Amino acid sequence: MQNFNIEEILKIAIKIEQNGRKFYLKAAEACPEHRTWLTRLADEEIAHENVFATFFKSFVNHTDEEPAFEDSENLAMTYLHSIADSIIFNLAKDPARSFRENPTIDGIIEDALRREHEAILFYTGLKSAMYDEKTAAEVDLIIKEEMSHVNWLKQKQMEIHDESLAKKERVYEVVIVGGGPGGISMAAELIEKGLDPEKMVVLESSPKTSWIIRKLYPEQKLVTANYKGASAECVGVMKMRNMTKESALQMLSEAVTDFGIDIHYDHAVLKIEKVDDLFHIQTKDKTLKAKYCVIAIGVFGKPNRPDYSIPRNLREKTSYDITSSSLENQDVLVVGGGDSASEYVQHLLKKGNRLILSSREKDLSYMNDDNRRITQTLGLSGKITLLAGTDVEGIKAEGSRIRVAFKDDQHDSILVDRIVYALGGTTPMNFLKISGIEMEGKQAILNEANESSVPGLYLTGDLAARASFGAIATAFNSSYTAAQDLAPKLGITVTT
Ligand SMILES: Cc1cc2nc3c(=O)[nH]c(=O)nc-3n(C[C@H](O)[C@H](O)[C@H](O)COP(=O)(O)OP(=O)(O)OC[C@H]3O[C@@H](n4cnc5c(N)ncnc54)[C@H](O)[C@@H]3O)c2cc1C
Repeated sequence: MQNFNIEEILKIAIKIEQNGRKFYLKAAEACPEHRTWLTRLADEEIAHENVFATFFKSFVNHTDEEPAFEDSENLAMTYLHSIADSIIFNLAKDPARSFRENPTIDGIIEDALRREHEAILFYTGLKSAMYDEKTAAEVDLIIKEEMSHVNWLKQKQMEIHDESLAKKERVYEVVIVGGGPGGISMAAELIEKGLDPEKMVVLESSPKTSWIIRKLYPEQKLVTANYKGASAECVGVMKMRNMTKESALQMLSEAVTDFGIDIHYDHAVLKIEKVDDLFHIQTKDKTLKAKYCVIAIGVFGKPNRPDYSIPRNLREKTSYDITSSSLENQDVLVVGGGDSASEYVQHLLKKGNRLILSSREKDLSYMNDDNRRITQTLGLSGKITLLAGTDVEGIKAEGSRIRVAFKDDQHDSILVDRIVYALGGTTPMNFLKISGIEMEGKQAILNEANESSVPGLYLTGDLAARASFGAIATAFNSSYTAAQDLAPKLGITVTT
C-alpha cells in the first residue's frame, strides 16, 4: 500500500480519466460501427479529466487556505488505500497498447464496465473526503456521470446481444450463391417483382462481382450479346447488347447498386444442406439459413485441365487465364479450340507476343464465325502459327523454357516460354452432388423453371444452360424463368 496525500489522489483520478479517454478512442478505432457512442464516452472522460485538473490546480496553489480535503478519522484514506493498489496496477498499463488484435465489441464493453466500476469506487472514497461541499458536489456529479456510463454500457451490451441472437437465428427468404451474371440477375428479378432486398443475400466467393468476367475476359474483348449463337433477346429486367468488358462489368455493378442487392464478398460457399425445410448455406466462418436457395456459381470456377500432368517446375509458366500475369514479348502457346482460345490469341498478339495456337479441331468449329475468320486469317497471314488439328501429348522443362510434344507424327515438338490453357470449365459436379442435386451425366436435372431435384433449390446462369455452353443473355433469361416460378412461393404475385 502507498500513503497518499490529496494531490496524489487527484493525480490518480486524472490518470483514470486519461486512460478512459484513450481506451474509448482506441475502441472507436477498432470498432468503426460503434464509433459514435464510443467517441461520445471519450469526450465525457475528457470533461471529467478537466474537472479533476482544476481541483488539482486549486489544491496546489492554495495550500495555506482552509483545506478542502477533510478526513479526520482517516476513513476515506483507508478506503482509498484498500482499492488503490489494483487501480494503480491497471493505470500503469497503456489502454491503447493492451488492446487485443481483433477486439470484439463484447470484450470492449466488459473492459469498459470494469474501468467505470473502478472509477466509481475510487471517486466515492474521494467524495467522502471532500470537506468543501461545492467540490464534493462536483465529484458527486462525476460519479453520477460514470454511473450513467455503466447503465449505458449495460444497455448497449444487451442490444448487441439481442442483435447477434437475431442475426444467428435470421432466416433469409432467399440466399443466392455466386455474384456473376446469373446471381445478380436472379436477385434483380426478385427485387423487381417485389421482394424486399433485405430478405435476400448474395454470397460471392471473390472480392468483387462477376469474377469470371474480370479474370477470364481479355481487356479489349468485345462482349457479344449473341455469344456462340445464343439468342440476345432478354425477357427479364436485365438486357444484353454488344459491349466492352468494362461496360459489361459496369452494367452488372450498376444493377447491384440500382436494385439495392446485398452482396457479401469473400464468402465462398462450401456446402448447401436442406434441414427441416430450411437451407443451411455453409461458408468458412458461418452458416446462413434460407427458405429458398439459388446456385449461380457458373462453370469456370474450376477450369478444365489437360489430361497430362504439368511438371511442378512449370506451374508458374502455365496458366488458365490471361489476367493473372502480364505476358509481353514472349513465345506463347495457347491450347484450346473455342472462343476463349481465339480471344486470348488476339489479345496476346496485341501485347507483342509471338503466338502459337494448338486446337484439336481442324476447322475451328467451336469458335463463332467472327473468331474463326479472324483466327484463320491470322494463321494464313503468318501473324500466328496455327496448329489446327493438333493434340498436345505432354510438356517438360528445357532450360528456362517449355518443350511441347504433340501426339501425331507430323508435328515436331516446339519450344515456348509460356502456355495458356483455354479448355473451358467443368460443371462443379461435386458441389451440386453434395447439395443433394440429382445429375444426369454432367448436367443437373432441372424442371422447366430451373428448379433442381431438391425442392426450393434453383440453378441459374451457366449451370442452367441446357446446351454445353452459356452466355450472359442466357444467364439473364434463366434467372427470369426461375424468378417467375419462385416469386409466388415468396407470396409475390407475378404477371406473365
Ligand atoms: C473467356 C470467355 C469469354 C466469354 N465471352 C462472352 C461473350 O462475349 N458474351 C457472352 O454473353 N458470354 C461470354 N462468355 C460466357 C459468360 O461469361 C458466361 O456465360 C456467364 O459469365 C455465366 O454467368 P454465371 O453467373 O452463370 O457464372 P459466372 O460468370 O461464372 O459467375 C459465377 C460467380 O460465382 C462465384 N462463385 C464460384 N463459386 C462460388 C462459391 N462456391 N461460393 C460463392 N461464389 C462462388 C464466382 O466467383 C463468380 O463470380 C464468355 C466466357 C469466357 C470464359
